[in-house]
Amino acid sequence: MTVTVVGAGLAGSEAAWQAARFGERVLLYEMRPEKMTPAHQTAGFAELVCSNSFRGSSLKNAVGLLKEEMKALGSLIMEAAVATQVPAGGALAVDRHEFSRYITRKIEGHPNIEVIRREVRTIPAGPVVIATGPLTSSPLAESIAEFTGEDYLYFYDAAAPIVSADSIDHEVVYRASRYGRGEDYLNCPLSREQYLAFWKALVAAEVHEKKDFDHVPFFEGCLPVEVMARRGEDTLRFGPMKPVGLPDPRTGEIPYAVVQLRPENREGTMYNLVGFQTNLKWPEQKRVFRMIPGLERAEFLRYGVMHRNTFLNGPKVLLPTLQTIRDRRVLFAGQICGVEGYVESAATGFIAGVNLVRLAQGKEPLVFPRETAHGALVHHVSGADPRSFQPMNINFGLFPPPGRRVSRERKREYLSSRALRALRDFASAYGLSIAAI
Ligand SMILES: Cc1cc2nc3c(=O)[nH]c(=O)nc-3n(C[C@H](O)[C@H](O)[C@H](O)COP(=O)(O)OP(=O)(O)OC[C@H]3O[C@@H](n4cnc5c(N)ncnc54)[C@H](O)[C@@H]3O)c2cc1C
Repeated sequence: MTVTVVGAGLAGSEAAWQAARFGERVLLYEMRPEKMTPAHQTAGFAELVCSNSFRGSSLKNAVGLLKEEMKALGSLIMEAAVATQVPAGGALAVDRHEFSRYITRKIEGHPNIEVIRREVRTIPAGPVVIATGPLTSSPLAESIAEFTGEDYLYFYDAAAPIVSADSIDHEVVYRASRYGRGEDYLNCPLSREQYLAFWKALVAAEVHEKKDFDHVPFFEGCLPVEVMARRGEDTLRFGPMKPVGLPDPRTGEIPYAVVQLRPENREGTMYNLVGFQTNLKWPEQKRVFRMIPGLERAEFLRYGVMHRNTFLNGPKVLLPTLQTIRDRRVLFAGQICGVEGYVESAATGFIAGVNLVRLAQGKEPLVFPRETAHGALVHHVSGADPRSFQPMNINFGLFPPPGRRVSRERKREYLSSRALRALRDFASAYGLSIAAI
């Protein structure tokens, strides 16, 4: 049977390669150079549109673990990254032109893959992976919105930072929902002096420069926190930092201002800063938001972003196999399925490619164990709360917590070795060849 992959970026190249490697004939559609995106510069596959880094390599780092899993599983993107690596300290960085050439050459030379340089405007027939990325062309995006329902395809990302629960100072914050309606939120109380110092730092902080295609008008209900702050000293106190209905149970008093933290997952391992969508540069977010009482040592699992991004509300649309609930022959991978980042996009491309083959061969598609980095990612994409769904980089907050008590220092090592063990067992159970890990 012939299977189809749309988009030869990080995810689509990986998906097409895996489908071909496991014996299927693949049609791979790529619209460049006939039609370019606003960010890509070349006709090469898996072009890195910005940084040339695949981030940290250590197993104490969730993205280091994800890369280790990808290498073990035989990822083409990782093979190319290692072959075209440049020195970058503890990170894996590549020569972007060599990297893209390596992948283009391998894919174009594979006897099972036929490359078609054409824009796809509607969802193709038969088993298909759609991996057209954050800058999916408009006709296809319209067709996807019709397929999934318009409410579930987004064109703009406006996300507040997310911090890990175990990095919050629980001596300082207190649990309460507004007007005593439960205890779902953590609240960071600010005195007048703390609020003014924070406000001054926020209005003076550096913001990201926007690319032309990122200039989307802000909605009034979703303004960047620094834009709100620039409207006046008290605007935040009457907006996202409003303290009314939130007395501190330890004193019975209402603080001058409050930053609310809302749980991001059911396990309560991650919290987002409510109403703090922002364009601040990432080091500035760390500096300024750590001025909030209780967040002095916060670990940022995701920084706030506001940029153009085409992505699905995965939990409403996708299964953990990356198939769509509506039509199981249609899979999504890469940034469009609701992950963030080069490595994460490629990893979901691997899963979609393997499942495309299994569909074509009449086998049950695979759900990666949630203890693995691959499984943690697709679990987020298909199982997070759909009401507040935001694309994410891989991070340890997405993994099931350790089943036993482990110190904070040892937690990452524990989660990494548990993941690699789970991947080994899973791969041998389903006949996925795996390198020694
Ligand atoms: C400006 C920008 C900068 C980014 N910087 C980084 C960064 O520094 N680090 C990082 O980790 N992540 C970054 N990202 C996020 C993300 O990791 C990358 O966008 C990544 O390339 C996503 O991989 P993908 O395979 O999902 O999409 P892409 O790599 O974008 O691949 C999608 C492919 O589909 C093609 N396509 C689109 N529509 C169609 C169609 N209708 N028919 C046929 N082909 C089509 C495109 O030409 C493209 O080749 C950035 C994103 C953007 C937009």
